Amino acid sequence: MMEEYIAQAEQDLLHTYNRYPVVFDRGEGVHLYDLDGKEYLDFVAGIAVFALGYGNEEYNNALKEQIDKIIHTSNYYYNVPAVEAAKRLKQVSGLDRVFFTNSGAEAVEGAIKAARKYAYLKDGNTDHEIIAMEHSFHGRTMGALSVTGNKKYREAFEPMIGNVKFARLNDFDSVKQLVNDKTCAIIMETVQGEGGIFPAEEGFLKAVRKLCDEKDILLILDEIQCGMGRTGTMFAWQRYGVKPDIMTVAKALGCGVPIGAFLMTERVGQNSLEAGDHGTTYGGNPLACKAAWTVLDLYESRHILEHVKKMGDYLTDGLEELVSKYSFITERRGLGLLQGLVFDRPVNEIIAKALKEGLVLINAGTNIIRFVPPLVIEEKHIDDMIGILEKCLKE
Ligand SMILES: *Cc1c(COP(=O)(O)O)cnc(C)c1O
Repeated sequence: MMEEYIAQAEQDLLHTYNRYPVVFDRGEGVHLYDLDGKEYLDFVAGIAVFALGYGNEEYNNALKEQIDKIIHTSNYYYNVPAVEAAKRLKQVSGLDRVFFTNSGAEAVEGAIKAARKYAYLKDGNTDHEIIAMEHSFHGRTMGALSVTGNKKYREAFEPMIGNVKFARLNDFDSVKQLVNDKTCAIIMETVQGEGGIFPAEEGFLKAVRKLCDEKDILLILDEIQCGMGRTGTMFAWQRYGVKPDIMTVAKALGCGVPIGAFLMTERVGQNSLEAGDHGTTYGGNPLACKAAWTVLDLYESRHILEHVKKMGDYLTDGLEELVSKYSFITERRGLGLLQGLVFDRPVNEIIAKALKEGLVLINAGTNIIRFVPPLVIEEKHIDDMIGILEKCLKE
């Protein structure tokens, strides 16, 4: 049965992904099951999305209740889940204004528009520049692509939105050299995900923050992958005590129901996007916001952050052991439950082998295995994962 669906998919769906040969049918906790009923240990979580694990009863029931009430209205009216979700997002971030989107890329688009409008209101000019980072990933829409520091994703779709320059993460001089009177924003992931799991260093972030303060440049931190508790604090920048002017979130925010957001300080909120400047039909609808509302409540009641800190340390130890044991693994990088193992060769075969052995893994670039499990993972699952991975490494 799986083969038939896979063949059908290859005929009907646009071939924008090289998919692994499996049809996932259902999930339970940190396990996935394919159409044949085979069990898989999931260390991908839909790419850092399903933080609370599959089949979470409270989450499922909250959504079912909302479906029976109302799924969609319009942003021309108020709805309770949007208000409750925004209130909670403000509490955990310390930021002041929220705009809900349908995806991560759309959150980045909104952040770029807010930054450009902020600069436009200051001097009336439309020649402002944005500094982004090499090896960054911010999404596939044209604006988000324009600040993505990877030629492979951009080249065929040029021209981009323009006036974007690329500096190097953790190289403050490379940022400083690009700053001029036209610079309106500096955008980066607090921990680069797709680009290979590179955390921004504290000194670098603090220096960039100071530079932004001096020149009234907006610091945009993309927390779409590294946020929502994945590194052990709700947002990765909170471990450094460096606060952005604008932040983007998505992925785990709805734990699978499509929702993202961009948030900003009151100062930016009062001096950028106004009525009529930005909008979305679905963004912030009651169903998506009920998901975010419930997710944020469950993070608190389940003490997710404390759990991630413990499991992050445990995973770090396990991966470090692999680094010391196998000469073809050169490095471990990452924070909390956002980790990467760097190999001296492509990792696609290892990932394919692991899938056959019932372990779901994903890469980040050609030679890095990325570990982004559900945040409710336990020690025994980490042990199981290391066991299966080692079996694949030995073969
Ligand atoms: C996944 C991701 C995006 C894009 O999010 P989509 O929901 O796929 O549009 C943007 N930035 C970062 C850091 C991401 O990891």
